[in-house]
Amino acid sequence: MNEKFEILVVEDSPTQALQLQFLLEAEGYEVTVARNGREGLELLATKPFPIVITDWVMPEMDGVELCRAIREQVDSDYIYLFLVTAKSSKEEIVRGLEGGADDYLVKPIEPAELVARLTTAKRVLELERTLKERNREITRLLHTDHLTKVFNRNHLDEQLAAICKQALRYQRPLTVVLSDIDFFKKVNDSYGHQVGDEVLKVFAATLQQTIRFAVDWVARYGGEEFVVVLPETDYDGALPVCERMRQAIADLRFKDGSGGDFSITASFGVAVLPVSCGMDMVSGYDLIGMADECLYRAKNSGRDRVIASLYDRASAEGVSR
Ligand code: GH3
Ligand code: MG
Ligand code: MG
Ligand code: MG
Repeated sequence: MNEKFEILVVEDSPTQALQLQFLLEAEGYEVTVARNGREGLELLATKPFPIVITDWVMPEMDGVELCRAIREQVDSDYIYLFLVTAKSSKEEIVRGLEGGADDYLVKPIEPAELVARLTTAKRVLELERTLKERNREITRLLHTDHLTKVFNRNHLDEQLAAICKQALRYQRPLTVVLSDIDFFKKVNDSYGHQVGDEVLKVFAATLQQTIRFAVDWVARYGGEEFVVVLPETDYDGALPVCERMRQAIADLRFKDGSGGDFSITASFGVAVLPVSCGMDMVSGYDLIGMADECLYRAKNSGRDRVIASLYDRASAEGVSR
């Protein structure tokens, strides 16, 4: 019942530690004992404990110091801290709570009181867990396109800037692809918006399936335009990937709703940031701008094709080649 809540008891007196351990184990908790604050911290570094019950007066590192040290570790999951003390003056209890303890227990520990206070601790931890999960879900939604479930424009804006900086700093290649479904308006006009939406979903999923899992990624740029980001990919590496995407799209078949089927094509504009671009400042949007120019050329030269360009000083200065 309590197996989810492992408790770390930090107590320098072996007798008191054992008493507390028996009490907690009888309630179904799993217990680990440390003999002082320092040892407690070491154990916390190897394994997470959602609840810590620490004595106050101990050699090496006392309970208040331990509470402070735990609270300084910002990236760990929340730890509910009990300070156990023989001191019961208000002043000292306030000092303990200010040190970061959530609650305190006065020696000798009353079993019924301990159980009741642990119930409160579990409620707080459960609440904290739920909140964290919700926050994760909100963050996910903030970065996901509702219709196609690939990343959205928000994610693209945030991540592409960072990826671009990294590529320049570590002199790594980077490819940004802008893809746009050809004559998509006709799909909507001929088969309706619901079929259009279905096409967008399958289109995005197909791009996603054609690229390297967990390295490359797709974001919906807007409407029927999608950006594909290929980190660590140079010109020679990018072209076959784009060609594979183009072919995979052209191979798709969609139901037209009246017994027949139809296919689509897409055009791809590709901007490659080479290792030796010789610049310190290129933004993600410089690359998208170049990919957009290539896309425009792909559209004007017949669609269903890939046109790529290298981003270098000449392109930054607007020299046409
Ligand atoms: P081109 O080959 O030049 O790209 O022609 P196109 O018809 O694809 O281009 P255009 O940009 O004129 O049309 C894009 C269409 O995409 C217009 C818009 O109604 C449609 N669209 C944008 N977002 C959605 C969506 O979420 N669902 C559906 N069904 N259609 C969308
Ligand atoms: Mg002690
Ligand atoms: Mg478009
Ligand atoms: Mg289009």
